[in-house]
Amino acid sequence: MTTTLDQDLTPYGGVEADADWAARVRELARKRDAVLLAHNYQVPEIQDIADFTGDSLALSRIAASSDASTIVFCGVHFMAETAKILAPEKTVLIPDARAGCSLADSITGAQLREWKSEHPGAVVVSYVNTTAEVKAETDICCTSSNAVDVVASIPADQEVLFLPDQFLGAHVKRVTGRENMHVWAGECHVHAGINGAELAAQAEENPDADLFIHPECGCATSALYLAGEGAVAPERVKILSTGDMVHAARDTKATSVLVATEIGMIHQLRKAAPEIDFRAVNDRASCRYMKMITPAALLRSLTEGADEVHVDPETASRARASVQRMIEIGQPGGGE
Ligand code: SF4
Repeated sequence: MTTTLDQDLTPYGGVEADADWAARVRELARKRDAVLLAHNYQVPEIQDIADFTGDSLALSRIAASSDASTIVFCGVHFMAETAKILAPEKTVLIPDARAGCSLADSITGAQLREWKSEHPGAVVVSYVNTTAEVKAETDICCTSSNAVDVVASIPADQEVLFLPDQFLGAHVKRVTGRENMHVWAGECHVHAGINGAELAAQAEENPDADLFIHPECGCATSALYLAGEGAVAPERVKILSTGDMVHAARDTKATSVLVATEIGMIHQLRKAAPEIDFRAVNDRASCRYMKMITPAALLRSLTEGADEVHVDPETASRARASVQRMIEIGQPGGGE
């Protein structure tokens, strides 16, 4: 299931993330033979209790290769679905199934089918922030690390339908110069909080700071667009996946870094390089869906075996094919 905007999205609460909580979580996970995966945008206490923290594709790959029979995916629903698509034999739990994604929700399977019917023969390229149903209707998935390569691999005379992120789509269209590419007008609700004026003003105020921009997150695609437009000096801009942000944090000579992505990322960066002053370009750029995975939600998930993620096997099989094609073209990076 995916989140609809009219749902009650009050997170589960009332549980302190203290030492007792941590011990109970570890014990319940052991009893369930569960591995705990946390996305980089989770709240710090969830990141810290997890067995692995990372980006969505890296976590899905860990899910697929893990010996554990149960995956507890602390992230948003499409990510847990992707883990289920790549590891169909495992039980996949998400601590709160209402944790959706406004970008993934910006196109449904029915809308995509209708769009396809208007462009017979077009090749469908979908960013990984999509539901399993949309992936099943997709020819090739992409991350923004390989979106240009994916589109360039399609014969020039074939139309391309690119979805759901309009900023990433505009970037790919500009780089490839492709005229016969149609872009879906979707967006992430968080990206609107990282606007060009803020980005440019902070870059100007901090002339020695590096600027880390996450290319694969809906919340950073507007920043990617602005960098492409030259709103900030290109040599200071580092377009990085979340995994690469952590590596770059260890390698950079800069003493301060402006981070254009969801604010949860700052926790991992500070852990990786405590001596660097990491600042969010917009400290209000927080994904409410990511923050629904609370300590109470995780405890409930492990106690009750909830919420289990199901993907219809036929849908999963078709979706898996589009994800596999993505992995075969260029460097897919790590997803959101
Ligand atoms: S930050 Fe945006 S793209 Fe990422 S999960 Fe949240 S709503 Fe979706």
